[in-house]
Amino acid sequence: GNGTLEGVSRVADLDASKLTITLSESLKPIPPHETLLFGKTMSDHMLVAEFDPEIGWSAPRIVPHGPLSIDPASSCIQYGNTVFEGMKAYIGSDGEPRLFRPDMNMARLARSAERMALPPFNTDQVLALIRQLITIDRRWIPLFTGYSLYVRPTIMGTRMGLAVAPSDHATLCIMLSPVGPYFRSGVKPISALAVSETVRAWPGGTGGHKVALNYSPGFLPLRVAQKQGYEQILWLLGDDLKVTEAGAMNVFVAVKREDGDIDLLTPPLDGTILPGVTRDSVLALGKAHTAGETTLPDIPASLRLHVQERIITIPDLQQWHAGGKLLEAFGAGTAVVIASIGKIGFKGEDIVFAEHEGGLGPIAKAFRTRILDIQEGREVWKNWSVPV
Ligand code: PMP
Repeated sequence: GNGTLEGVSRVADLDASKLTITLSESLKPIPPHETLLFGKTMSDHMLVAEFDPEIGWSAPRIVPHGPLSIDPASSCIQYGNTVFEGMKAYIGSDGEPRLFRPDMNMARLARSAERMALPPFNTDQVLALIRQLITIDRRWIPLFTGYSLYVRPTIMGTRMGLAVAPSDHATLCIMLSPVGPYFRSGVKPISALAVSETVRAWPGGTGGHKVALNYSPGFLPLRVAQKQGYEQILWLLGDDLKVTEAGAMNVFVAVKREDGDIDLLTPPLDGTILPGVTRDSVLALGKAHTAGETTLPDIPASLRLHVQERIITIPDLQQWHAGGKLLEAFGAGTAVVIASIGKIGFKGEDIVFAEHEGGLGPIAKAFRTRILDIQEGREVWKNWSVPV
């Protein structure tokens, strides 16, 4: 749940009011925005706090970004009990930095930490600390549309010792990285290889949590897929070849219905799917469009999107494709926002989607435009975009 130490323990909870700040003596030059590669450049400062079972959470510190000192016998190094988040700060049209639905990232961080048996913490305090860090490194938020400051909170188990046991020590580290559009050569459709021999997540596993151990087993299959000319993996699961996720994105497909409306489908959150913030936003905006509460850009108000969380299999995709009903597939995630999928390879055959000018199908484009408009403060929707 929304972790807090209150009532659980007598040790100290994370307390943003105890923050100490040590500013860097030599601020780094900010590279030209067009040279930024995702997650390669770090801002000047990071935030660190440690948990000790006797004391609780230490006073948090903002310090120059740099190496942490961790014993090699630490549990995060030996057993991979690291959890993390990915969110972005955007400069609004009014020059104000904003975060997009940060409460969802905080809730997910608490759930991930709980799943890895890491110590709890007050998520409001983490968010307060993120705000302070962004404010200090505000000059690192690129002022260009499609650019943002990626925020990477990380919590790692730092129990020293090789026993296979939960960690009673932890380190929280929050870092910032200026990022540009995920695809440097403008938006272009992704090619994905559907893979069933290796699986990303399984029933009862950790796929529904943002834990580091979900990611590294995908590196070798990704390398193999890339050698075959595909950029991402479409992870399948089960004998029925259920579509789960593509890379670090949730997957949506748009299917034409008999009545002329569109089914907008994404797999249900059954524990094998990461509950993406972007996924949730697409679902909510799609439902709002069909309910007449908003009109998505360039989608006629009369075109109903039947938004459903349901199982999608490779045979489903093949059948819809053969029947000319498979309109679009797209990935949704913080890094990419929305990206169309242009091609899905499976067992030597490709499902090839219609090409669209600008590299985005009309439905993908509608969601991408609306979500970016909300993130960058050009439009207001609910309280999704919050000032830093
Ligand atoms: N699936 C996985 C496996 C991911 O790592 C991510 C990125 N957090 C997503 C989906 C998309 O989630 P979000 O929209 O919250 O970034």
